[in-house]
Amino acid sequence: MPTYDYLCVDCNKRISVHQSYEEYGRITVSCPHCNGTNLQRLINRVRFARSEESRLESFADPSEWGDLDENDPRSMARMMRKMGNELGEEMPGEFDEVVDRLEAGETPQEIEKNIPDLDL
Ligand SMILES: [Zn+2]
Repeated sequence: MPTYDYLCVDCNKRISVHQSYEEYGRITVSCPHCNGTNLQRLINRVRFARSEESRLESFADPSEWGDLDENDPRSMARMMRKMGNELGEEMPGEFDEVVDRLEAGETPQEIEKNIPDLDL
């Protein structure tokens, strides 16, 4: 089951929620800390390794990414798969879809258009 990360706008805590693809977007998620429902999706954080979280630090070194060419969607897809594998955890629901689309040759701009709630 994919994990979705949210930021609770009310109490400013970060939470992770396990939801099935069917549940996502249909059931209301509430914050376990304050019960608020004012939650913001955090999906861009893992996507391009811009995170400052320590578990992602090894990806801060471009040499770890191999032959990454940011203008080549397939090259980005390879890097993202590698990143996903090395993190060893389930990636957000959109992650696989984005990688699939990159591998199909779509640009991040096109993908962004096709997945409206994506924040690349
Ligand atoms: Zn809260």
